[in-house]
Amino acid sequence: MGENGKKLLIGKVFLKGDILLKTGLHIGGSKESMQIGGVDLPVIRDSGSSLPYIPGSSLKGKLRSILEKFGKRTTNGKEETLSFNRNIGTRKDNIFIHCCDDARLAIQCEVCRIFGSSGGDMDERRTKGENMPAILFVRDSLLKEDSVSESTVLAEVKIENGIDRISAAANPRRVERVLPGAKFGFELVYDVEALSFTGSVTPGLQKALIEKDLKNLLTCMGILEAEALGGYGSRGYGKVEFKFSEFVAKSIAHFLGSANKTKGKTDGEFGIPEARTEVEEIIKFLELEAKSAISR
Ligand SMILES: [Zn+2]
Repeated sequence: MGENGKKLLIGKVFLKGDILLKTGLHIGGSKESMQIGGVDLPVIRDSGSSLPYIPGSSLKGKLRSILEKFGKRTTNGKEETLSFNRNIGTRKDNIFIHCCDDARLAIQCEVCRIFGSSGGDMDERRTKGENMPAILFVRDSLLKEDSVSESTVLAEVKIENGIDRISAAANPRRVERVLPGAKFGFELVYDVEALSFTGSVTPGLQKALIEKDLKNLLTCMGILEAEALGGYGSRGYGKVEFKFSEFVAKSIAHFLGSANKTKGKTDGEFGIPEARTEVEEIIKFLELEAKSAISR
């Protein structure tokens, strides 16, 4: 935030529920732990329980990459699409992503505001190149053991073939994947903060940004349902569905011990469209909570 910057935690928004696998899921793990004669591409597993799981970084990375494709940044009052300006790969194997070079740009950027940005080069006066920490926390999604019966094999090994276009030689690989029907519990936590680079905190501006962020997150989840999570998506892997059990805001007063300082939906199983209808109420609630947090 730099000198004299201010940040005030207003509350947190929780998005919780299950990720239901509609087709086999492959999120790559380490081959080291596999025996000879095993699979070529195993799924990642929790080292303690040895059950497959979805790392928070995989889900977060996928959501970010989706938002990079439709998110906007407002610079000098003008809205612009985002550029893939940062190479996070190597010089030989480029991986370009979008990443704002400074926190002051990032706060007006729909991607970096949620997912964070590592600043670019600092200038001499150190007024540029600041990091923007992520305000979204994506937990590891653990397998719901009751979604798979004990007799069910958790993961199958499927042979995927690559065909050399010149020699026509096949190059079969044994890919492990978690079977459809399995459920993983997801949890996203979005920090609601009033912040200022200059010293005075005003919640008014943030209201519109927070509303945009929550809607963007739900949109990203919807687009992810239409795309794929993990590897081999173009071969049919990784179709998932989000089943919400909770979409709720909890204000700082709630964490301080006050009752009834939450707002949102916590009953039954619901989908993305139903979650979207809650956003307006959640924003109204957070606006009131921001006022009391600032005047405290
Ligand atoms: Zn950005």
